[in-house]
Amino acid sequence: MTTLLVGMLCVYLLSFSVMFLLISRRLQGGTMGMDAFAAGNLALGMAYVLQLLGGAGGWGWLSMLNHALTLCSLMAFCVGGARFFGRPAPLLLPLAGVLAGYGIVQVLVEAAWGATARHAMLAGTCALWLAGMVAVLVHGARRFARDLRVEMLLIAALIAGLCALNLAKLGRLVDGGLAGLAADASFQMVFYVYMCSLATILPPAIIWLVLRRLTDALRETAARDPLTQLLNRRGLTEALGAHFRQPDAEARLLMVDVDHFKRINDNHGHHVGDAMLCGVADVLRAAVRQDDLICRLGGEEFVVVCLQADHATALRVAERVRSQIEGTVMLRQPGHEALRCTVTVGVSGHFDGEASLAQAMRHADAALYRGKKAGRNRVESAHA
Ligand code: GH3
Ligand code: MG
Ligand code: MG
Repeated sequence: MTTLLVGMLCVYLLSFSVMFLLISRRLQGGTMGMDAFAAGNLALGMAYVLQLLGGAGGWGWLSMLNHALTLCSLMAFCVGGARFFGRPAPLLLPLAGVLAGYGIVQVLVEAAWGATARHAMLAGTCALWLAGMVAVLVHGARRFARDLRVEMLLIAALIAGLCALNLAKLGRLVDGGLAGLAADASFQMVFYVYMCSLATILPPAIIWLVLRRLTDALRETAARDPLTQLLNRRGLTEALGAHFRQPDAEARLLMVDVDHFKRINDNHGHHVGDAMLCGVADVLRAAVRQDDLICRLGGEEFVVVCLQADHATALRVAERVRSQIEGTVMLRQPGHEALRCTVTVGVSGHFDGEASLAQAMRHADAALYRGKKAGRNRVESAHA
């Protein structure tokens, strides 16, 4: 029965290793740790293949390689986790270090205290390592991966179970030696059934995490203007939808249009125009409150939505935006004059739902148009 379970483990681990590798190839530049997870599954799968080839515990070089590969898999999973969270971590060097270092330590321990001590050392090292992984996962759920809190805690619980089983294995080795462990068929069964369950649950869980990251990134990309990284119209609608789901939510919007922008393009080229738009976006980001929404509607038109702001506040923000853009050198080209621009701003009345957004935009646009006609570089209110 144990042999059957170990055989199943080999199949799970090696087939998910191939799947992780295929996914990492598809992800190209950002592998999200999939290549390291593939290496981890391969190392653990190979360790269990060696176990099948070598028979029961206490059998020389194959067993030593098996133990070193087991630790290599833990190292690879840690590297995979680090890479998933965007931390650059080398893979081959740590794996070679574990393989060689743990290999030497095993030879010394086996020579000094025998095979039982070497097996006990693996169980103890795995328990410690797994406990460290649980601590990092729990820390991550509270700090750097709060968006994946449930998943992180679930994985931490599963790994904590494996940690406990390794501790129990260590206890049995200390009490009854290798023979005692081999004779305890029910413990062996529990251990391998748990390993099979982990090998079945964890890889899809990792793939789910990658899927979540990818879809989040996709949603973010779809909501942003690629030039300025401000919200685009879709992003603005989504963000406003979230705002208006709160009770008593209201907002006012500023329609901001760069004056004579066509001339900048015509005189200096489109790339200078683009740089100018990025400069305007930077000033907008600095001039409004963190909670307010900034959107590039298209071309040289921007919308700032002031959340929960009264008319005087919206006018104040509009004037700040206007004067800061007027006072900012947007671009300084070597050998050319410093480039500046001005904007005209139309301020809407208050609105309190997505349905009234279009009307608020029309009102702000009408005010903006009045500002343009009145000479530009000014703030006009829909209430004027
Ligand atoms: P006004 O003061 O009346 O607003 O005049 P304007 O020249 O700013 O307005 P107009 O609508 O005539 O011109 C807008 C220009 O913006 C025309 C278009 O080529 C340019 N434009 C639109 N999108 C982009 C872009 O992504 N990059 C650059 N560089 N220019 C753009
Ligand atoms: Mg314009
Ligand atoms: Mg325009």
